[in-house]
Amino acid sequence: MTKKIDGKKISLEIKEEVKVRVSELKEEGLQVCLAVIQVGNDPASTVYVGNKKKACAYTGIESRAFALPEETTQEELLELIARLNEDDTVHGILVQLPIPAHMDEKKVIEAISPKKDVDGFHPRSVGALSIGEPGFVSCTPAGIIQLLKRSGVEIDGKECVVVGRSNIVGKPMAMLLLRENGTVTVCHSHTKNLKEICRRADILVAAIGKPKFFDDSYVKEGAVVIDVGIHRDENNKLCGDVDYEKVAEKVSAVTPVPGGVGPMTIAMLMNNCVEAAVRMKD
Ligand code: NDP
Repeated sequence: MTKKIDGKKISLEIKEEVKVRVSELKEEGLQVCLAVIQVGNDPASTVYVGNKKKACAYTGIESRAFALPEETTQEELLELIARLNEDDTVHGILVQLPIPAHMDEKKVIEAISPKKDVDGFHPRSVGALSIGEPGFVSCTPAGIIQLLKRSGVEIDGKECVVVGRSNIVGKPMAMLLLRENGTVTVCHSHTKNLKEICRRADILVAAIGKPKFFDDSYVKEGAVVIDVGIHRDENNKLCGDVDYEKVAEKVSAVTPVPGGVGPMTIAMLMNNCVEAAVRMKD
């Protein structure tokens, strides 16, 4: 029978673990703190920032919010980041993306101290991941590894296919699966024979941003399928890159949308904040 991998339940487990660690640190006199910066009023960003603040409140992490107007200059934003880098009471810094077009996203990401880079987007964090050194890992792929491990899915020696090569999902996903000793293939929009490659996968990670693209013809009998996509379908219902109904009949386990990968991203962000605080303390 196909198993639904329950991201809601697993993310709650992680948040509970974070809560315990946050309260232990508090007893030692250390209040874990995440600075969340939003520039402008993009409605989707406001929802994401709100969810992050809620997760902070749930786990006992202090969230320090900076809501900057759209017309903020890049200099002003960089000055704020520099101040937060120096502030010992702040352990994680997050700039909600996208930022307004008049700013250089790369410069802003690079301004965040790698010690406080809880999103794992800084080139130092990305480099550390690729050479196996400690550093922060992008929350969505880190959450997927937790989903697999906590659902009892073996990665070691398995044929893993990641479809999508973005800097925040596909590439770090491939590195993490490799670190877990998977045999990893990364596909993208230029890949020939995508279907055949996907059908080889023991573990298929779909992260292309195309609603219900992967149907049962893309999966092998008994595979494990991780759906990263988030979309609204024609009936305004949430769906992923995977056609869940069709794929579920054939695979051994699959993540639903909603309730799969989505909740894991914020749980891992909370986890990274505690890690940042512990590393700064030691
Ligand atoms: P990007 O748009 O940055 O990257 C998409 C990738 O998919 C690219 O590498 C692209 O290839 C590849 N691709 C696009 N079309 C095809 C195709 N037909 N065949 C093969 N490869 C293709 O997306 P993200 O990685 O940021 O996000 C992917 C999805 O995950 C989105 O739906 C997004 O909303 C969702 N998401 C969900 C998160 C969560 O918390 N659940 C977090 C982050 C993202 P190429 O490089 O050649 O252009």
